[in-house]
Amino acid sequence: MKCSVCSSEMNDKYCSKCGQYYKGGRINFITFLGDLFDSVFSLEKSFFRNIRIGLSQPKTLVLNYWNGFRKYYYSPGKFFTIASLFLVLHYSIANDFLGLVVTSNISSQFVILLSNILLLTFSSFLLYIQFKKNFFEHLILNIYNVSLWIIIFFPISVILSLTVNNNPIEQYFYIPFHILIIIWNSKAFELTKAKRFLFVTINLLMFYGTLLFIVYKFGEF
Ligand SMILES: [Zn+2]
Repeated sequence: MKCSVCSSEMNDKYCSKCGQYYKGGRINFITFLGDLFDSVFSLEKSFFRNIRIGLSQPKTLVLNYWNGFRKYYYSPGKFFTIASLFLVLHYSIANDFLGLVVTSNISSQFVILLSNILLLTFSSFLLYIQFKKNFFEHLILNIYNVSLWIIIFFPISVILSLTVNNNPIEQYFYIPFHILIIIWNSKAFELTKAKRFLFVTINLLMFYGTLLFIVYKFGEF
């Protein structure tokens, strides 16, 4: 049998050239349900696997991508897309993520997402300049880590909105949110414990310094 995608000979159920799988047989009610269940379940399984790896091995996803490997772990684009979907979902249940309002519509959630990524990228790019990673490599690092922590803080933020429902209190949760991103960013670089502590502290000061400057200069963000 020839593969329908790349026309190479298939000796196995998987095409050895392009990886297409051959199942055979006609579609019926049972296989229809099975495929549907399988796609939802495998999506969920791969999602949780990627989140777990992102949390337990902060440098694995980033270094793998930096080193040119693709399609095994989620790409930064996929993480970003999923984080955006979580923000949309969040907005439909409980309005603003961690109580931060720019303008009272959904686009403000993306302004917050993008400005977080850009500001954190600038500060990590400057701070870790000795490691010779370019701006876009830092952008990848931050897309991964900001998206990861948005997904993790999603249930926290929803619960806060539904229980506390006080924006200034909810906004305090941005501090652990940013600290965790900055720690996770530092894990992509080989550092001693003392140096890591120093780099994380400086990064926090840079980030909040810039943020305060922007808020002071341009008013309410
Ligand atoms: Zn093929």
